[in-house]
Amino acid sequence: MPKQKKKLNAFMIFAMEVNKRRFNSSDYNKAIGIAGRLWNKLSKEKKEEYKIKAQKSSEVDCVENSDKKEPKEANEIVSVSSEINKIVTDANSIGDLDETIFYFINASSFFEINDEIYPAEIALAKFSLKSGIIDDLHVQINPGELPLSSIFIALEKSKNSHKYLLPPDCGGVKDYYMILDMLISFLLPLERLPIFFTEGNIHYNSSPFLETRKVFEKIFYEAQEFDMQPEIKIYPIEELFYALHNITVRNRNDINDSEKEETFPSIAFASDTFFDNNFRLISKSCEFHDQVNAPHHCCLSKVRSYGYTIAKWCSDGSQYPLIDGKHSPHILTLQ
Ligand SMILES: [Zn+2]
Repeated sequence: MPKQKKKLNAFMIFAMEVNKRRFNSSDYNKAIGIAGRLWNKLSKEKKEEYKIKAQKSSEVDCVENSDKKEPKEANEIVSVSSEINKIVTDANSIGDLDETIFYFINASSFFEINDEIYPAEIALAKFSLKSGIIDDLHVQINPGELPLSSIFIALEKSKNSHKYLLPPDCGGVKDYYMILDMLISFLLPLERLPIFFTEGNIHYNSSPFLETRKVFEKIFYEAQEFDMQPEIKIYPIEELFYALHNITVRNRNDINDSEKEETFPSIAFASDTFFDNNFRLISKSCEFHDQVNAPHHCCLSKVRSYGYTIAKWCSDGSQYPLIDGKHSPHILTLQ
């Protein structure tokens, strides 16, 4: 049977873009409400851009088929930084940057060898410039017994970082299906995986980045929930911070004539600035890391500190209220 085709108009193209950011659903109708609200606020020039986009788009399937690959744009092989830049610039150009949700992750492990990793803890946070930390998820993981030969290294690592007892005495969730379920519930109403951001790819050493990636891949691939393994996109948060800071500074400079703020001169500078605070010492950590007085080694404290750092440099307190505990660590946790 021939597929039903429908010509897309400017608003539909716009709604598809909003859907991708807000729901990542296979049916962009989900985003029609939000898209309508944003569309009404769009400038004439911006609407004109979407009309041109609509004219250019030849006939495209109105409802995307989820098991079909999305149509590839020309020259779609882009670097991570230009992809991040595009997300931020696109959202900003339609006045949606402050409410765009970003997903932060961090994970730690007991031990890894070749392709095998033994996870200890994971954390996720949802964040927007306007609302700060919207929600978080923390899961302690019990990966089952470690190989005997790893015990010494795993003990050393625990002592110098996460402090957990070695499995099987560490406690935590053993069932990877259950962990995956918690992750997916946390990500709702998204229907497909978003881009995740974590630390460590830009700064001095890349191991925290790889450790987080391996733990997440382990959870998604070990629990064989999917017929096809989903692509997990994990990008450096330092790049996001750099892009967000530069664009929000420009926005503020446009409004404010008297005091001009400086953008970050380089990604290295942004990266140094990103870690130059004590947020991970004073952010809410999990119960265990609270008890052993090691909040800075807690994945939950880390993902929350990402949000506080970005809020400190990028959220605009003159446009919306900055909330204690959401844009900055709760004052009661200060020592
Ligand atoms: Zn913890």
